[in-house]
Amino acid sequence: MSFPSSSHLHDVVIAGAGPVGLFLACELALAKLDVLVLERADRPEAPLKAPPLGTRGLSVATAEALYRRGLLDPLVAAASTPRKAQAGHFAGIAIDPAKIDPTRWKYRLPNPASANFAADMSSVESVLAARAVPLGVAIRRGHTVTGLDDHGDAVTVHAGGHAFHAKWLVGCDGGRSAVRQLAGFEFPGTEPEFTAYSALVEMADPGKLPPGRHATPAGFYMNEPGRIAIADFDGGAFDRSQAITPEHLQAVLRRVSGTDVTLSAVHLATSFTDRARLATTYRQGRVLLAGDAAHIHSALGGQGLNAGLGDAMNLGWKLAATVHGNAPAGLLDTYHAERHPVGEWLLDWTRAQAAVMRPDAHGRALEGIVRALVDTPDGATWFAEQLWGLSLRYDLGGSHPLVGHSAPDFELPDGSRLASHLSTGAGVLVDCDASSPLRHAIAPWHDRIRHVTCGASNALGLAALLVRPDGFVAWASDKAAVASEVEAAALRWFGRPSHAISSDRRR
Ligand SMILES: Cc1cc2nc3c(=O)[nH]c(=O)nc-3n(C[C@H](O)[C@H](O)[C@H](O)COP(=O)(O)OP(=O)(O)OC[C@H]3O[C@@H](n4cnc5c(N)ncnc54)[C@H](O)[C@@H]3O)c2cc1C
Repeated sequence: MSFPSSSHLHDVVIAGAGPVGLFLACELALAKLDVLVLERADRPEAPLKAPPLGTRGLSVATAEALYRRGLLDPLVAAASTPRKAQAGHFAGIAIDPAKIDPTRWKYRLPNPASANFAADMSSVESVLAARAVPLGVAIRRGHTVTGLDDHGDAVTVHAGGHAFHAKWLVGCDGGRSAVRQLAGFEFPGTEPEFTAYSALVEMADPGKLPPGRHATPAGFYMNEPGRIAIADFDGGAFDRSQAITPEHLQAVLRRVSGTDVTLSAVHLATSFTDRARLATTYRQGRVLLAGDAAHIHSALGGQGLNAGLGDAMNLGWKLAATVHGNAPAGLLDTYHAERHPVGEWLLDWTRAQAAVMRPDAHGRALEGIVRALVDTPDGATWFAEQLWGLSLRYDLGGSHPLVGHSAPDFELPDGSRLASHLSTGAGVLVDCDASSPLRHAIAPWHDRIRHVTCGASNALGLAALLVRPDGFVAWASDKAAVASEVEAAALRWFGRPSHAISSDRRR
């Protein structure tokens, strides 16, 4: 290592105390790693994190991840937005909840996380920080990451005039990620078609701007009391490093709406574009990326935070096992293998919405077709699956249709639910056959896999399933399960049992 051996070596340094960095910090600290988070901002509070502009739609997949770590209730309590299930929309085309057919989701059981919800960024971050700090995470605010050296077996990170050393560095520092740039990750993608604005405003002559959402020849605008949203198909021409002046916002609103409305006050404004880029790899040496640092795209349909939190849930246990030295070969590489396709899907999901919203004859034609599809039970159910994160299936091999999906939240005979057994970050073997030999088969992994029995009443026809720490099914069987199959799945995802590792070390 080419840094002073007397220096403290953290297990992981995370750049960025946004929601993704903080959630990852919680995951790593749950596994008892030494974690340092370096954050550019001096203070966690910022006007754009508070409602309404800081409000984010969170999917069922995100609700499940938080629920499995005991974070859903604290977040719902902290968020000032009342919890209200919404079916969602695609390019502004609302999904009718009455047309969604949940009977098609054979392996989903009703549970406290089965609805999407909204929460503001301040609440998300404060709940995650409140969990991370007692777990031992150190958060240093006012520390902008400005440099890094990957030594091959450790990384030195330069921030706030200091050098910090870690076995691993994860860039969770947002769309303009310094870590991504400093480490030289490739970040290809597509250029924007529009600039979108969201602002809290007052109008001198509110009667001039019709309320509601309106498509126009220049884009679209939405007018709600005290708030406007605009998409200006300007090719993403607005220089987003500049402040959004009231004059600029008014000019854009007038052009897009075709009115001469006057803004008498602009209290808060933000902008984004549909520029879409994705890191070609999520890991380079000792440096990893998660969240917006790995993928940028428009905020249409609200998916970025959901994807980022999914990255963190997927990476946390894999990186922890790698640091602890008990990860099976290649486990860390499955982070890229599983999450990069999610990033690709996400970029295409937002690109497709931009195409549907294009203010020309092609866009209108496409919109009409999508609207008709969304209006069918098949369409509404399919769009809901995508929007809520239910369609996510990792390609983990295996023939059972449940493998790679989020595990059903079984209610167990003692009244507990599966989610509560995942709260420590361990894996779980759910055994639906009380006489099966599986308890003994996984005993050597007792420090990493818990065994629970599932009452036959809600077993969904399953005999047993092995659930990874992130709540995804690694292996499942409908028939009386064979111990060797479970052992093979445990070896693949949890590595060799501790006694085998320690006897190797003694040799
Ligand atoms: C208007 C709008 C609406 C949205 N709506 C939704 C929605 O409904 N649902 C949804 O899922 N997503 C939504 N998103 C996207 C979502 O906000 C982002 O995907 C999410 O915030 C990404 O989280 P992150 O932690 O990766 O990055 P960020 O939230 O950007 O956090 C990055 C952190 O890193 C810090 N940082 C930056 N550079 C450095 C550095 N060099 N050193 C140290 N720290 C640094 C920053 O200060 C920040 O705290 C929306 C986005 C916008 C703009």
